[in-house]
Amino acid sequence: MTSDRPDANSLLRSPNNKRSENRLKPAVRKDPKEQDADAGSYLLCRHCLQVISSPAERIEVQGSHKHTFANPQGIIYEIGCFKNAAGCGYTGVPTDEYTWFRGFRWRVAICGHCLTHLGWLFMSTASSSFNGLILNRLVESKKEI
Ligand SMILES: [Zn+2]
Repeated sequence: MTSDRPDANSLLRSPNNKRSENRLKPAVRKDPKEQDADAGSYLLCRHCLQVISSPAERIEVQGSHKHTFANPQGIIYEIGCFKNAAGCGYTGVPTDEYTWFRGFRWRVAICGHCLTHLGWLFMSTASSSFNGLILNRLVESKKEI
């Protein structure tokens, strides 16, 4: 008998009906059936390789994913906008001082593992926020979990 062989039809079944549920899980939880082009790809802290976010969390804010800004000291940052960044911690009191996105207050976002400054959390209301992460402080990886 060959009944121990996987059913070919089950291997071809689309996982799309799982997608909305997957969106609610932390980015570090990998679903091997996810067929998104970014499946299994993560954005890690360049310093300690902690999983910070994933390409699937990329969003556009004010018409673009990437933004280049200078802070008041003239330091230039290229940031990418991400809806969720489960690996980040946040510090400081929300402020709108020198904010780069009108209507958004910000806090400093740091690596939850090594505390490297990775960017900022921008908040317009409690329910509307995104992470602006400094792209050259992240590294993309196909890390297996
Ligand atoms: Zn780190």
